[in-house]
Amino acid sequence: MSNLDNLDKIVSLAKARGFIFQSSEIYGGLSAVYDYGPLGVELKRNIRDAWWKEMTRRHDNIVGIDAAIFMHPKVWEASGHVGGFNDPMIDDKQSKKRYRADMIIEQHIEKLRKDEKHEEANAIQEKLDSCGSRKSLTEDLYEIIIENEIRAPESGAFDWTEVRQFNLMFKTQFGSTSTEEDGVYLRPETAQGIFVNYKNVLDTARVTVPFGIAQTGKAFRNEVVARQFVFRMREFEQMEMQYFVKPGTDEAEYEKWLEKRLEWHKMMGIREENLRTAPHPEDKLAHYARAAADIQYKYPIGWQEVEGIHNRTDFDLNQHAEFSGKKMDYYDQKNQERFTPYVIETSVGLDRLTLMVLCDAYREEEVDGDTRTVLKMNPKLAPTQVGIFPLIKKDKLQDLAHKIEEDLREEFSILYDESGSIGKRYRRQDEAGTPFCITVDFDGVESEGEDTVTIRYRDDMSQERIPVSNIANVIRDGMKSWKPE
Ligand code: ATP
Repeated sequence: MSNLDNLDKIVSLAKARGFIFQSSEIYGGLSAVYDYGPLGVELKRNIRDAWWKEMTRRHDNIVGIDAAIFMHPKVWEASGHVGGFNDPMIDDKQSKKRYRADMIIEQHIEKLRKDEKHEEANAIQEKLDSCGSRKSLTEDLYEIIIENEIRAPESGAFDWTEVRQFNLMFKTQFGSTSTEEDGVYLRPETAQGIFVNYKNVLDTARVTVPFGIAQTGKAFRNEVVARQFVFRMREFEQMEMQYFVKPGTDEAEYEKWLEKRLEWHKMMGIREENLRTAPHPEDKLAHYARAAADIQYKYPIGWQEVEGIHNRTDFDLNQHAEFSGKKMDYYDQKNQERFTPYVIETSVGLDRLTLMVLCDAYREEEVDGDTRTVLKMNPKLAPTQVGIFPLIKKDKLQDLAHKIEEDLREEFSILYDESGSIGKRYRRQDEAGTPFCITVDFDGVESEGEDTVTIRYRDDMSQERIPVSNIANVIRDGMKSWKPE
């Protein structure tokens, strides 16, 4: 089975079990927009909560905020998004597909290298690197595509439009007057909500540099190439933390956060061999960054960024100081000095994280000549933590099962199920990633002494009989000691 087949299977399971649906599906769907179903919303919430706990509760110098999606239009001028958040795009007139012009050229170069045509590849690479220096960026890119007769990857046609800049921000009207000149944008990143609140937090939260501000929330990008399930969406959720540090300490803090964040993904139970860090080469850094690295996961579509760590320097605070006319510097009382902090940013996509958890957990196993599909995810993240089943529909068993449900529901997420054979119920919970199932049977309620139940473990399907009073303890221990296989 190829990796991409694996993605198809995950997409099917996600839909069939109620993790992720296409948006507005009954109308044919809306491209690159997705909805989370009953299991998906729990999984996503658990991941968000785990991140929040890690970033805020485990660091006494990191506080949270929740900024609005709409922001003053000037914010996006200051941040560079109005001027620079563009991709140069070209359309294949035959297939009507749109591509990033620079990527088409890079793919062509890669192909030439594979064919050992290094001289030709080097010449095109050189031209690509100096795009924008002959005519404009778009014209220079167009020229390379035409000169080298680069064809559309899918249709094979050589029938291109011009190269055009395409801004990734969604713009909409604001207020009751549609004549208002400046529309507002849906934020393309959550970070700016943190920068514009930096002074408010300094003035109210009694923090001193170094300190961090964390936030989770929706971001919107009119992505051009958006065909990879929840990996690249037009509406997605980011979880970002901006860490304000003294200039000069920024490089060490950047390294520290890169390592800390990689460790967190491992702690969440993602298999180590599927994670790596990849620093951005200096000539590929974003306009605001002094250093940047991806934390990448080996998705079925290949190694791809799940999180970015960036040293944004004092770029954003300086820009906002200039555009707003407000001071953004910091007075260090202890050392009696004034400076504008540098910012180390950790930025992770919640949807990409959710997809990573699903991909890493997904297994197919042969069991007694049958295929068992199971999501072996960290029990703390599982949408349902405990399944509770009376073996058959008899009062005595149902009553005890309901009592156990009542006892556990404050602490764990529970699902009570009495329909179908016990084997089928186990398999349903395997597909949902439920780590523990409790079955109440006659042996347990009719024997002498305390009532007992069978607990069945998702990962190795082993079972043991335990007293009812010990269920919560056994589950707590199972959660703590869980390790990815
Ligand atoms: P990429 O290069 O994959 O487009 P990016 O470098 O533009 O990502 P950032 O701007 O650094 O991404 O955003 C931080 C994080 O937000 C990314 O690591 C990713 O997890 C998430 N993210 C960005 N764009 C999308 C998207 N269109 N859909 C889902 N998640 C996204």
